[in-house]
Amino acid sequence: QAKDKGRGTYHFYTESLTRSANERLALETRLRRALEQDEFVLHYQPLVALTDGRIFGVEALVRWQIPGEGLLYPNHFIPLAEETGLIVPLGEWVLRTACARMKTWLDAGLPLEMLAVNLSPRQFRQGDLYERIRAVLAETRLPSRYLELEITETALMEDGPENETKLAALKALGVRIAIDDFGTGYSSLAYLKRFPIDKLKIDQSFVRDIPQDTSNMEIAAAIIAMARNLKLEVLAEGVEAEAQLAFLKRHGCDVAQGYLFGHPVAADAMQATLEAAMGKG
Ligand code: C2E
Ligand code: MG
Ligand code: MG
Ligand code: MG
Repeated sequence: QAKDKGRGTYHFYTESLTRSANERLALETRLRRALEQDEFVLHYQPLVALTDGRIFGVEALVRWQIPGEGLLYPNHFIPLAEETGLIVPLGEWVLRTACARMKTWLDAGLPLEMLAVNLSPRQFRQGDLYERIRAVLAETRLPSRYLELEITETALMEDGPENETKLAALKALGVRIAIDDFGTGYSSLAYLKRFPIDKLKIDQSFVRDIPQDTSNMEIAAAIIAMARNLKLEVLAEGVEAEAQLAFLKRHGCDVAQGYLFGHPVAADAMQATLEAAMGKG
């Protein structure tokens, strides 16, 4: 994977599906301890409005800071955290930390409108999800309208009917719902009518090879058109090149995220960027 270049080698913490039972157990033990010892950090990536290029929000992305080893990226530990259930306490830590940070940024007068936080399928399945989210918002004093929860299609389609109630409750609380990695999960689009969704995030695999890959261009354009017709916001993930940006703008995409605008960075660096942008604006 190109994006893992330069991050050192993690022979032990491999993403490999063929990881042995012993290795998995060791990693699970290590993950559990990492939670207790506060080894996780959040990075924040700008969400940008395509009309004026303004950073209107940020997505929180978790990393594991292994002492003496460097940063480990979520693809290497989220799957196992999900499998073992450790994603529940980890996800709660992410939510609380991100909401608290957002609150300090708002209090400092930074012009942010949105904090996006990923919810794994297992987190979404929790019976008391609503109560947990409400509790974190109350505790951090972040007004609910700033929080956008990112859920994948796959998570949404598990169990069916009760998810409608769950989403309706979250909407009533005032949080926003985005479908992450849109287009990669589920083939029926009927759920877009059924669920109270605010935004579609076009998966980066459809953005990657624009303008070389014509079928990707067709798919991206179709998702944008559909979202607009359904009165949903639409964000393009993984925008790395001017040509992609031009294409997305031409097709009426609202917002985007990607290395072209900014990599995910630590909170301090994000704050410096936001302050600099405010100074210019
Ligand atoms: P995601 O939610 O779709 O997040 C976007 C991913 O794309 C991030 O990878 C981000 O760094 C990467 N990205 C952003 N712009 C570009 C670009 O221009 N080009 C390319 N090639 N990549 C770009 P990251 O941080 O490694 O996270 C990977 C996935 O791990 C996330 O995908 C999300 O599914 C999961 N994840 C991250 N943080 C959390 C979390 O706190 N909780 C849960 N449950 N999952 C998380
Ligand atoms: Mg996401
Ligand atoms: Mg995504
Ligand atoms: Mg993804």
